[in-house]
Amino acid sequence: MLNAYFCKKTFISNPPYILQTPIAYIKGVGPQRAEMLQKELNIFTYNDMLQHFPLRHIDKTKVAFINEITPATDYIQVAGVLMNLEVVGENRAKRLVGEIRDKTGVLEVAWFQGITWVQKALEAGKVYLVFGKVSFFMGKPQIVHPELELWVPAKKDGQDVLEPVYPSTEKLKSRSLGGRQLSKLSQAIFAQLKPADIPENIPENILQQLKLENRFLAYKHAHFPPDTTAYNNAIRRLKFEEFFLAQVRLNLLKLDRHRYSKGVVFEKVGGLFNEFYNNYLPFELTGAQKRVLKEIRQDTARGKQMNRLLQGDVGSGKTMVALLSMLIALDNGYQACLMAPTEILTKQHYETISKQLEGLPVKVGLLTGSTKSRARRETLAQLADGEIHILIGTHAIIEQAVVFKNLGLAIVDEQHRFGVEQRAKMWKKAAVPPHVLVMTATPIPRTLAMTAYGDLDYSIIDELPPGRKTITTVHRYENDRSRVMDFLKAEIGLGRQVYIIFPLIEESDKMDYENLMRGYETVKGYFPEPKYWISMVHGKQPAEQKETNMRRFVENDTQIMVSTTVIEVGVNVPNASVMVIESAEKFGLSQLHQLRGRVGRGSEKSYCVLLTGQKLGNDARERIKIMTSTNNGFEIAEKDLDLRGPGDIDGTRQSGVLNFKLANIVNDKPILDTARKFAVQLLEEDSLLEKEENRVLKQFLQSQKGKTLWSKIS
Ligand code: ADP
Ligand code: MG
Repeated sequence: MLNAYFCKKTFISNPPYILQTPIAYIKGVGPQRAEMLQKELNIFTYNDMLQHFPLRHIDKTKVAFINEITPATDYIQVAGVLMNLEVVGENRAKRLVGEIRDKTGVLEVAWFQGITWVQKALEAGKVYLVFGKVSFFMGKPQIVHPELELWVPAKKDGQDVLEPVYPSTEKLKSRSLGGRQLSKLSQAIFAQLKPADIPENIPENILQQLKLENRFLAYKHAHFPPDTTAYNNAIRRLKFEEFFLAQVRLNLLKLDRHRYSKGVVFEKVGGLFNEFYNNYLPFELTGAQKRVLKEIRQDTARGKQMNRLLQGDVGSGKTMVALLSMLIALDNGYQACLMAPTEILTKQHYETISKQLEGLPVKVGLLTGSTKSRARRETLAQLADGEIHILIGTHAIIEQAVVFKNLGLAIVDEQHRFGVEQRAKMWKKAAVPPHVLVMTATPIPRTLAMTAYGDLDYSIIDELPPGRKTITTVHRYENDRSRVMDFLKAEIGLGRQVYIIFPLIEESDKMDYENLMRGYETVKGYFPEPKYWISMVHGKQPAEQKETNMRRFVENDTQIMVSTTVIEVGVNVPNASVMVIESAEKFGLSQLHQLRGRVGRGSEKSYCVLLTGQKLGNDARERIKIMTSTNNGFEIAEKDLDLRGPGDIDGTRQSGVLNFKLANIVNDKPILDTARKFAVQLLEEDSLLEKEENRVLKQFLQSQKGKTLWSKIS
């Protein structure tokens, strides 16, 4: 257990220094409480405790009077005598109540959990310092589960005045390891530490230029600041450190890749590409598509491995860029593959691309989980001897059994559905790793992209093909349903098709399925057979059934598609003109935008209807407002980042580089920008970290080898 843990975590100094000491060694902790700390807070070692930063600090000199409490009061600290402590109520209503009295009034305190323990620990008649969030109960102020400690007047010399309060849990509170009590641990640790135990990792000249505190002091002051200014300085330093190290690592990876990686060389743009471009291309490429192709062309010609992220809003025409890039690979005697996240999308790619290439001497193969074993054997054989030039498939492509003759380019569509490891397997498919192009329709704000994907090269298609009509998006409440359904009837009457999407939060959630089924019945009520036909698709269906239902909709056998978000990604039915999203308040912005992108693909005017309940939370209201006011994916992504923070943006969750402890990409953007600037500059001047002044940084990075910070792909 301990070993596995050691491999996984970051240490702030080299092993085997003091910071790796198990927390149980602190006086008064012992094995039992140590185990609880591990379970509840993931704190195993001294280091973990130091990384467990205080939530806030209590200024012990700031004690309010009880009569200052108003309904507007949030957290407060008072001091008073504890009185009338007693257990009241029974069973679930059982609670421990008491009163705190100072010379101005009475404050009620109450506990619903850990009653026995709390009662034992407290003593009526003594003066306590009480801290907590004030609420009003029957017109009287009270604090539920307050933090209490015996009152000791603050020292006058300013020391120890700001006391840390740590994140904790109810369980730990019941074992005397509440938010304030945890400070005893960090105190005990600091008593044993010397500055050398938390060695500096940022070059001195940067510290000086930015007036940043040294590392030991920063840690110390983050936990035990002498005053607010010291605290703020400490936090600024630690946030900078987080961003700076992440940026250095990413840029080192990128430099490494550019320096050492060998790539297949696509020397020329040859016959296939030119023939297709001149005689087969069904439309003029947009400027953005041309630009991205040029970037890919340059990347693949210089003998380095390309590792490129291509972002383009839904419908921006990424598939054509993929196809043209694959033709370049073919022209140079290499095979190419295109991997998509779902069976449906894979088949659609297969069909579109096969049709577009009809007449050219290119053999396209298909491989998915449901490819029958005979066809599969044949495909694998043709792949191995080079008969198949382009392979289109699902995850099935990366299975070990799939061997290419000479794979030169691997394209991954809608990358956020693929795990990092799966993508890494792509690399191993050829002696010289193939060029990799990752395409995503989830627009990632630039800030985030630079931070999360800083090691990748990066292209954007920021232009939609001409003639696209904007999708009109409206918000309707539940009680407008029948009018919405009438509108659908009118559209279907004009020969169009419609989507009705239900939320499915958890694939396994029974409630959600019941909702979907009920929704399906309701829709059927409005749209009876045989005038109307409905397809239903959801994740629990067998692949075959899903396939049939989807196909019927694609072929316009059914006019209505009732579905969960399984159709979210990539599916193309240009005749569909209305997207109805049920319980739209339950969806995140990027998901709503993805769903909306299913319509507006044909020549007809398209609509997106966001159906919601009457009552909406503030965030939901904001999301709906954004959706009805813009169609621009990048704008939406920026807003999404503002609303939710980086942790929730699709596709970034797995990316460890965004898991900062203190820093926040949105709120601390200025620090991030500075950190990036300094990291880039440092590596420009000293890309191998050979200069003496950068030794501290190099040593630190070397001590962190175990930490997986491999690139998104490599
Ligand atoms: P996405 O970027 O979402 O994968 P697609 O590649 O599926 O988008 O393209 C969406 C639609 O736009 C397709 O029907 C495609 O044929 C069409 N398309 C792509 N590029 C152009 C272009 N330059 N001009 C006109 N239509 C285009
Ligand atoms: Mg696509």
